[in-house]
This record gives sequence, C-alpha cells and structure tokens, in this order.
Amino acid sequence: MRKAGRHFLQIPGPSAVPDRILRAISMQTIDHRGPDFAEVGQKSLAGMKSIFKTEQNVFIFPSSGTGAWEAALVNTTSPGDKVLMYETGHFATLWQKMAKKIGLNPEFIEGDWRGGADPQAIEDRLRADTTHEIKAVCVVHNETSTGSVSPIAEVRKAIDAAGHPALLMVDSISGLASVDFRFDEWGVDVCVSGSQKGLMLPPGLSFNAASDRALEVSKTATMQRSYWDWQDMLGPNSTGYFPYTPGTNLLYGLNEAIDMLHEEGLENVFERHQRHGRATRATVRAWGLEVLCAQQGQESGVLTAVMMPEGHSADAFRATTLEHYDISLGNGLSKVADKVFRIGHLGDFNDLMLMATLSGVEMGLAKAGVPHNEGGIMAAMEHLKTTEAPRLAAE
Ligand SMILES: *Cc1c(COP(=O)(O)O)cnc(C)c1O
Repeated sequence: MRKAGRHFLQIPGPSAVPDRILRAISMQTIDHRGPDFAEVGQKSLAGMKSIFKTEQNVFIFPSSGTGAWEAALVNTTSPGDKVLMYETGHFATLWQKMAKKIGLNPEFIEGDWRGGADPQAIEDRLRADTTHEIKAVCVVHNETSTGSVSPIAEVRKAIDAAGHPALLMVDSISGLASVDFRFDEWGVDVCVSGSQKGLMLPPGLSFNAASDRALEVSKTATMQRSYWDWQDMLGPNSTGYFPYTPGTNLLYGLNEAIDMLHEEGLENVFERHQRHGRATRATVRAWGLEVLCAQQGQESGVLTAVMMPEGHSADAFRATTLEHYDISLGNGLSKVADKVFRIGHLGDFNDLMLMATLSGVEMGLAKAGVPHNEGGIMAAMEHLKTTEAPRLAAE
C-alpha cells in the first residue's frame, strides 16, 4: 500500500539525499575521457581536499567505503606487516578482519565499545615496540556502531610522543563532513571515507586522503594491488581524469554536495551535528534509557546508539517503528545485535526533522511496549529552543 509523505531514513548512513544532489546526479552521463569531463574531475578532487582539509593527495574510487579501507591498507603495507588497530566497535573489528584476510598481522587493542580509542594505550604499545615493527596505527574516527568519536589529534600526539614512525590511518567514513576533521593539521597519513554518510550522496564513491609521506611509502610497499593502486591514479588525476571509468553521475552529485557544505560552512555543519547529538541524548536520558557511548566528550553528533532495556528486543522495536511510523532506525551490529538501536541524525538534517525522528522513536517505544518515561522528546525540544542554531560566517 502506498505510504504518504516522506520516509524517514534515520540510519547512520546512508543518509537521506537532498533534492539538490538528486537533481545534480540526474544529468546525462558524459564521456569520462572527453574534454568536458576534466572540469568535473578537477572540481571533485580539489573539492574533496577542502573537505578533508588537506593540501596533500586525494583519491576517489567507485566503490563503497570498504573498498577505500582496502585501498588504504594495500597501498601502504607489505605482506606480513604488523599494524596496530583499536577495537572501538563493529567497524574497527571489520577493518581488522580485512587486514588479516589480505595478509597483514594486525594487533588489536581491546575496547569495550563504549568510547573512542585511548591515545595512552596506543602510546604505551608504541613505546614497547622499540624495533619499529608496527608500520601503521589504524583508528576509526566516528565509530558508527556505537556513536563514539576517537580523539584523532591526540592519537597523533601519542605516536609522536612515543617517537614512533608508524603511519596514522583513520577511518572517517561516517565522520567526514559531519564531525570536525583536519587531515593536515592533525598529521593524519591516510584517511578513508565514503559518499553515503556526511557527504549526503547515495552509496558508491569512496575516498582516500594520503599524506606525501604515505604516498612515498606506497612506492616501496609490496602488497599486491591493482584496482586500488594510488600510483596509477596520479597521472590521470593530475588533469582531472581517472585510469578507469569513474562514477561520473555520483561525481556530479559530489560537486553539488561540496558546494552545499561550503555554503553552510563546514564549522556550522559540525556544530549542527553536535547540537542535534546533545538534544538527542537529552531525550534518551529523559526516556530513562541509556546511551551506549559512556565517555563524556566522545559522544557522536552523527548518531546516538541507545541501549534497550533488559528483556526487550531492539530489532522488534525497530520493526514496529518502521511499520507504524515509516521510519528506519539503525540496528545493533554484531556484539550489540538486538541490544541497541541507533538514531541517525546526520547529513541534510534540521531541528524539525530531529523532532519528528524522536517523536517516531517515542511513539514506537509506546507501541512496542518498551518501558520509558513519556514526553522525553520535550528534553530535545527544550535544548533546541534554548540553544542557537550555529551561524558562523560561511566560507
Ligand atoms: C559505513 C561505514 C563503513 C563501511 O562502509 P561501506 O560503504 O558500507 O563499505 C566502515 N566504517 C565506518 C565507520 C562506517 O560508518
């Protein structure tokens, strides 16, 4: 049966695609080796540098974010290399599994899935590695399975404090363009990202930002690679082209997204997400429920993972909410499957969309018979009423 009105896609990626981007994508595909393409490609590559905040190198792949994870690893490592990874949650675990599969030797610092990476633990491990066996430190910036943000600048300081030469690799697939990220200033060597989260595009594009040092390392790294090879990208990219067929229509959309982000101002975008995160957490607590992220100051503005009361199924609740209110909420992944649900508040999103989302969650809790304090959504409304929407000068 037809459902009237817009579906609320409140999973933490893919996020809803704004009309402006949908229109930009719905242009004829052009010859990606023809004269008109160069402008599209150059704008995408330069634009993504401005989003990563880097003057160094950016690569764009037609793939999901998982592909860019692989690209980051295979371009900078050799078979059997040791890499230090941090268990922030499901996505960190998947990246670590990938590292194993492709023949690396990942060491995983255990985490409890309730906060970001601990820089001190990384520093301690690196100090003990006196022979510099560890070639890279890999950290997830915004852990989408838990709603926790890792302090990337502090991780870089930890690596430097240990006097260790390991590369710093960051997964900011769901952080970029939603959570403050500064590739050059924070001394990141490789950052992995994707199109369908903060960048507001459909899935299908992925990114690597790479430092000059990482690019230098890639010249001697011997891991097998072909599709993902940065070195093959460099020549064509220098004039706005790609070595194989790019996601042309998604690049049209990407260029629109980059314009939109700068029109609003990146700092305003970050603060908007923070504010919606604060409002959401206020409501979750007013319901009497618990936020999965337990580290104050590391809560994500992209999503909020909510712990289900004992004896209640998060998936049954999500199914009820979808059926009755046409809203998709994120599921709990692996270790927290059926125990948490995730409210996405990212991308092209405003105060009223957040209030509608939280109303849907509250009505769903009632419908599914999940114990909670009625009227918890008032706490979010109070927060939004009493705080200013961000309005810093745009770029
Ligand atoms: C979404 C996501 C991924 C996986 O990206 P795909 O596009 O699904 O391949 C990896 N890491 C994080 C942090 C993510 O949010």
